Amino acid sequence: MKADKLLKTWIEIHGPLRPEQRQSFLARAELNPLCELADAAVLYALSRSPKLAEVLRLARRDGWWFSGEACEQDNIEWCARCKPTGLPTTVYMTKGWSSAFHKSPDCRLLVGGQGLVTARGGDPAAVEPVHIQVALGSGRFPCQSCFV
Ligand SMILES: [Zn+2]
Ligand SMILES: [Zn+2]
Repeated sequence: MKADKLLKTWIEIHGPLRPEQRQSFLARAELNPLCELADAAVLYALSRSPKLAEVLRLARRDGWWFSGEACEQDNIEWCARCKPTGLPTTVYMTKGWSSAFHKSPDCRLLVGGQGLVTARGGDPAAVEPVHIQVALGSGRFPCQSCFV
């Protein structure tokens, strides 16, 4: 993940930064090693903490699972037993407009968004259960409402 995408994603998950805060974000020593790691690992870690040192630590410690590496103990990809705690294996998202995925199909923001589409006379896209890796791989991030 490039530094500017990392900054953008951080802001989408944790909230806006003033210009001088963006500058110091981009000057952080953790940024280079984070840019080297797999996107899915970084997205997972970004959703767990706003602190870059912690993000780097989590991405290094747990990121292998979210990048689809087999575990050492069982030699299984997406091993349920060795999955780092934090994000569920199955999450929910809609095709189309949303940039987030959700813990549950009943999430307040998800249901609200669907209602908004209907209220405008549109047809809301179906909510689908997907593997966490598919959600992270499509560049979506954990919903701020159900993952905090
Ligand atoms: Zn395992
Ligand atoms: Zn949600």
